[in-house]
Amino acid sequence: MYKDIEKILISKEKIEKRIAEIAKELDGEYTGKMPLLICILKGSYMFFSKLSQEMKIKHQVDFMTISSYGAGTKTSGSMKMMKDVDKNIEGRDVIIVEDIIDSGNTMSFLKNLFSERNPKSVKLVTLLDKPSRREVEIVPDYCGFEVEDYFVVGYGLDYNEIYRNLPEIGILKEEIYK
Ligand code: IMP
Ligand code: MG
Repeated sequence: MYKDIEKILISKEKIEKRIAEIAKELDGEYTGKMPLLICILKGSYMFFSKLSQEMKIKHQVDFMTISSYGAGTKTSGSMKMMKDVDKNIEGRDVIIVEDIIDSGNTMSFLKNLFSERNPKSVKLVTLLDKPSRREVEIVPDYCGFEVEDYFVVGYGLDYNEIYRNLPEIGILKEEIYK
């Protein structure tokens, strides 16, 4: 697997230290509440489980599967929901947990979708952000790291469903997807 990686951008230690910081901030913001953390599958599964473990306040979890990418590295534009959340989010404090914000299309789709269901509040948490690639205006409430315009894999992020198990964030060699 590592032979396909150009460079490790963010080490496991650095990622997990940052996740612990975000968890602490969320603990502070949602003290006395019972937020519902929504994992956007598949990319955020690793980030989500670490974040949830690091949070010390009571919370609930739910899962949604959504896809905007085909097999390549460019967004297909159209959003497909394969699995909706199980819980009724009306009146709930919702925290959407994503792996990466790129064009912003996925996040803006999700924010609109959840807002229509009358939650008490909706906040966006992302492990990575590529602000230089934005097509629609979306600013996450919490972000792990800003990254340059590279195609990155690992810590849940994939190329062609591969490399999700890489414990670091790495830049994929161009020859793999060119
Ligand atoms: P957006 O809708 O363009 O913001 O794309 C968001 C989704 O595209 C993310 O949830 C990822 O699944 C995927 N994505 C965007 N950039 C990358 C990348 O560098 N590596 C892996 N997946 C990515
Ligand atoms: Mg994703």
